Amino acid sequence: MKPLIEVLTQARRDRVAVGHFNFSDLVALKAVVASARKLNLPVMVGTSEGERDFVGVRQAAALVRSIRDETGLEIFLNADHTHSLAKAEAAAKAGFDEIIFDGSTLSFEENVAQTKRAVEAIKSINPEIVVEGEVGYIGTSSAILDKIPEGMGALTTPDEARQFVEGTGIDVLAPAVGNMHGLLQSMVSGAVQKHLDIERIAEIAQATGALLTLHGGSGTNDDDFKRSIRAGITIVHVNTEIRLAWRRGVEAALSKDRGEVVPYKILTGAVEAVSEVVEKRLQLFNAR
Ligand SMILES: [Zn+2]
Repeated sequence: MKPLIEVLTQARRDRVAVGHFNFSDLVALKAVVASARKLNLPVMVGTSEGERDFVGVRQAAALVRSIRDETGLEIFLNADHTHSLAKAEAAAKAGFDEIIFDGSTLSFEENVAQTKRAVEAIKSINPEIVVEGEVGYIGTSSAILDKIPEGMGALTTPDEARQFVEGTGIDVLAPAVGNMHGLLQSMVSGAVQKHLDIERIAEIAQATGALLTLHGGSGTNDDDFKRSIRAGITIVHVNTEIRLAWRRGVEAALSKDRGEVVPYKILTGAVEAVSEVVEKRLQLFNAR
């Protein structure tokens, strides 16, 4: 199996992006695996701290490893938005392929200092683990939101991005470039879409030379996705869209047969609903 860093470097060379989808149960994981296998594409799955608490850190790693071993699929596991060194180390020891140390709510200096410490600690456990850091605030919640989170709006500058990458030794940078975690009500219907600052992405890619991740991809305009990937985005995170599909899939299955109590029969509908979203996103991220 190719290490994650090689898969990412190849994707950047090909001007495509690796899709990253979160899971906290077998429904989302099965849906992502089915879609990636169908399209024969590498894929990343992630668990935030909350999702990891639910699935279990070692259990998440064992699930993904077993899929990789059985199918040969290039599937990689990311510890999404990790806020403490202890949780980063636990994920590293469990066998995660990537860890995001999220110090984006700290002051810039403190973010650099803590992320640098995390990079050193993670790489001392396994130097192959890809470490990502974040500069700029894009909200925290992958949910349906009433309003734009407070403190949003300021984009990451090329200069602070370069200082951050140089000061921390991270492999991947997550900048704020017009993206946002979660979906507004108006985005659920598709009436409003997220737009990205493509020029800023290109400037940050140029200034840092780092691999770049776009967080909060749900609800983004298709053309903006394509242009952002051409400008230097290599990983795209989608979570809220698949959470929404999960809920709608479960609701549809429950209302179809009110007497059904067999979980795997109810949840099959949710797997299909999530797969549909994942497949569309993977096709878009890998269109050349
Ligand atoms: Zn994120």
